[in-house]
Amino acid sequence: MMQKIINPATNELIAEVSVAEEKDALEAIRTARKAFDQGPWPRMSLEERKKFIRKISEGILAKAAELAQLETLNTGKPIKETTFMDVPSSAETFKYFAEHLEEFLQPQQRNISTQIANASVNLEHEPMGVVVLIVPWNYPLLIASWKLAQSLAAGNAVILKPSSLTPLTALELAKIVHEAGLPQGVVNVVVGSGDTIGRALCESKDVDIISFTGSNEVGRKILEYSSVNVKKTIMELGGKSASIILEDADLELAVNGSLCSIFLNQGQMCTAMSRILVQDKIYDKFIDDFVNKAKRIKLGRGEDFQTQMGPLISQAQRKRVSDYVEQARKEGAKILCGGKIPQDPHLAKGFFFEPTVIAEVKPDISIFQEEVFGPVVIVSKFSQIEEAIKLANASDFALSACIWSQDTQKAHNLAQQINAGTVWINTYGMFFNEAPYGGFKRSGFGKELGREGFLEYTRLKNIITDQTKDSKPLVNYWYGF
Ligand code: NAD
Repeated sequence: MMQKIINPATNELIAEVSVAEEKDALEAIRTARKAFDQGPWPRMSLEERKKFIRKISEGILAKAAELAQLETLNTGKPIKETTFMDVPSSAETFKYFAEHLEEFLQPQQRNISTQIANASVNLEHEPMGVVVLIVPWNYPLLIASWKLAQSLAAGNAVILKPSSLTPLTALELAKIVHEAGLPQGVVNVVVGSGDTIGRALCESKDVDIISFTGSNEVGRKILEYSSVNVKKTIMELGGKSASIILEDADLELAVNGSLCSIFLNQGQMCTAMSRILVQDKIYDKFIDDFVNKAKRIKLGRGEDFQTQMGPLISQAQRKRVSDYVEQARKEGAKILCGGKIPQDPHLAKGFFFEPTVIAEVKPDISIFQEEVFGPVVIVSKFSQIEEAIKLANASDFALSACIWSQDTQKAHNLAQQINAGTVWINTYGMFFNEAPYGGFKRSGFGKELGREGFLEYTRLKNIITDQTKDSKPLVNYWYGF
């Protein structure tokens, strides 16, 4: 069966791809299983594995402009973002894990001595086996690259499932992997709807781990499927993150940072700061500057370097965003700017939505609690820091937060009281290959990136050797034989 791939800026067809059915998903599992159980990939030297992964990084850089263009066409996001962030960061992640895999996989030895036993304990990181990587549509190439780079560096065989809305750069990535010469069957890409192939991919006993990035609803389904054969999962789910702006913040920096933190990628970021909490003394000034600048954000087609915000990913996503705004309006919130589809005829065919700022929102209404996943932010006022902590933590999600203050020690102390896996101080959206990232509570569990994230794609084996010299070996002791 073929699936139409649409440019969300124009609603025009850009490609047709064949989609997998359940039997194709099962075939991909068989292929990956064979590549892992019998193929050279997990058995080759780390030095050799490293060379292949480095080649993937070089392959991405060699096609950087083409990939940026394709990602922009398929997602609508501004070319400035794909050119300077998504594509180079993807290449950098493969390079980083190629360079660090030997260090991270280094076995550890511990000598243990107790009253009755002496032993050496060897801790060895082995690949998990067959990994299923399920990726959302907001950063199709970047998130696929994070997951693929770590899985491959750890020695696994992989099945990558991109979102059926945005499969194009994942398919290009598969070509790059092929050109890098990885052994047959180590990387398999299946394009298809989650409802059709998700269960088959996640339930199978031939799959050892699922790494999922996506919504809470789908995350819960995957947990259910993966429980059938009791398998490890990494869950990178949604968020309702808060940015706290203290009265001693550098106001211009806080305003500009807050704009990025909600309008980059049209607000379709799991870490979007969709709630901004501003201390009362600077609230009015903050709102004036923030709303003025939000109104000046230039909407347009992603291919244009002047564009600052593109369309949402689909008609359905725009409706979801628009419905949340309408609901907030009905519940008494005040729309300070945006809140509607732009009138510009050049944008009429695409799924555009204006940058939207909402105030006077009560913490119990839906827009304060639920992930909108669009360019919509609510701004609230607080007076005491304790109040900001309470508001920031009044969410079932706990993915990320921002704090803006010129007193970085005070900001650090505050960060320790916020329920979030990542807290940025005086910045937003800095992701590093070196720094593990992941949420708490309903935002999921497990880490991505860094040594800690990489090790999620391994299993830890403990090999214990009896080292008893003078006294009786422990196994001889119990029955006295
Ligand atoms: P989604 O959950 O709808 O889809 C994610 C992936 O899951 C897609 O590939 C989809 O095809 C697949 N899927 C859907 N149903 C499935 C099923 N029954 N079984 C298996 N797979 C299935 O998410 P989305 O709309 O693509 O992305 C937006 C969501 O992703 C937001 O909630 C956002 O917060 C989250 N996200 C989280 C992070 C993070 O790191 N925490 C990063 C990016 C996006």
